[in-house]
Amino acid sequence: MDFRYSPEEERFRQEVRAWLAANLPADLREGRDEDLSPDERWERHKAWHKKLYEGGWVGIWWPKEYGGRGASLIEQAIFNEELGRAGAPPGVNLNGITLLGPTLMHWGTEEQKKRFLPKILSAEEIWCQGYSEPGAGSDLASLQTRAIEDGDSFIVNGQKVWTSQAQYADWCFLLVRTDPDAPKHRGISYLLVDMHSPGITVRPLVQITGDAEFNEVFFEEVRVPKKNLVGEKNQGWMVALTTLMYERVATSTYFRFEKILPQLFDLARRVERNGRPAIEDTAVRQQLAQFAIEAEAIKYNDLRRLTRQLKGQPPGPEGSFSKITTTELNLRIAAFAMELLGPYAVLEKGSPFAIDHARWSRRMLGARAGTIAAGTNEIQRSIIGERVLGLPKGR
Ligand SMILES: Cc1cc2nc3c(=O)[nH]c(=O)nc-3n(C[C@H](O)[C@H](O)[C@H](O)COP(=O)(O)OP(=O)(O)OC[C@H]3O[C@@H](n4cnc5c(N)ncnc54)[C@H](O)[C@@H]3O)c2cc1C
Repeated sequence: MDFRYSPEEERFRQEVRAWLAANLPADLREGRDEDLSPDERWERHKAWHKKLYEGGWVGIWWPKEYGGRGASLIEQAIFNEELGRAGAPPGVNLNGITLLGPTLMHWGTEEQKKRFLPKILSAEEIWCQGYSEPGAGSDLASLQTRAIEDGDSFIVNGQKVWTSQAQYADWCFLLVRTDPDAPKHRGISYLLVDMHSPGITVRPLVQITGDAEFNEVFFEEVRVPKKNLVGEKNQGWMVALTTLMYERVATSTYFRFEKILPQLFDLARRVERNGRPAIEDTAVRQQLAQFAIEAEAIKYNDLRRLTRQLKGQPPGPEGSFSKITTTELNLRIAAFAMELLGPYAVLEKGSPFAIDHARWSRRMLGARAGTIAAGTNEIQRSIIGERVLGLPKGR
């Protein structure tokens, strides 16, 4: 296997690097945006998204006719790496860009693609994902939100939960039950719902971090035009699975170890262990090296997934492997930062003695969420067991 990039790809990398050096605001590079409230951070990231979009860096692998750059997945991967290396956030509308967009490219009608894809990239229309319900998380196919046909519309009633960014969203890709009598996987449909429609209520949920980034969403007699059905009626499960496969991969790319590890090494230089900089301690050095090795292994596994996608296939079960390894490495890094900080770990943002504005403690509180979101790691382990290792199906 040849891991080298071609001269053109190396030139592309230099172009990205130069653009980021000239355009990335210093406060984003240094992670100071993490200290803002969710609303302030959203506005800051939206402004950064606009800059990325105008620079032609959003949807690098998407076809030009849908607003993309028309480059390949390799260029997209190089861009993601450079973004991480520069310590930059990825912009906004990731539900649209990384989940719905690729799904619509597989399943959408030409009219749906032309209508929705360009505004996903520009973030003129923000998207949220309406999958989970109070009684349907890991067992997603048990969902109960109902859609009944009425002329050229569906009428939707029900409740979703844990809906990230619903408070900012203009649109939602929503799973609904259209045939309650069919076996549970066969009575589901996939709808695109305007979040400004009458009958939708969004209620924020506060997380352990103190931020409210996800929500409960209630649908009461919400009218959705039939032209917003993706795929066939009652065949939405296959469409939903496509989104889920992209979601596992997308979730793993949120954790940029090119950014997090240098920050951890820097922390180890500034805090002390036994009266000396922690980074001089053998046990600390071994742990840091172990993290770096694992991050490198994750990178190479990602290239394996990329190869599959370059052959025109959607991400497969190896996406589950990426999802587990990235979220669990991220969790262990956050826990190790707590150890390095010692008593400083308990200080909150705003405390005069807090190190790095207590960013590490907030990351620690947020890190567990990564192992739950996009399908829990227990579920991902079952997928690997059944689909990669060929083990018998669990009960
Ligand atoms: C930060 C965050 C953001 C999210 N954003 C969204 C969003 O935007 N849209 C959306 O629709 N959803 C979202 N979710 C919801 C997420 O997809 C669900 O939380 C997840 O699928 C688990 O479902 P649940 O919470 O109902 O837990 P449950 O399914 O009730 O699981 C509870 C526990 O039981 C375990 N478990 C359940 N079944 C099995 C099994 N068969 N085998 C082994 N273990 C099992 C689980 O692993 C878990 O540990 C988000 C979640 C988080 C944490």
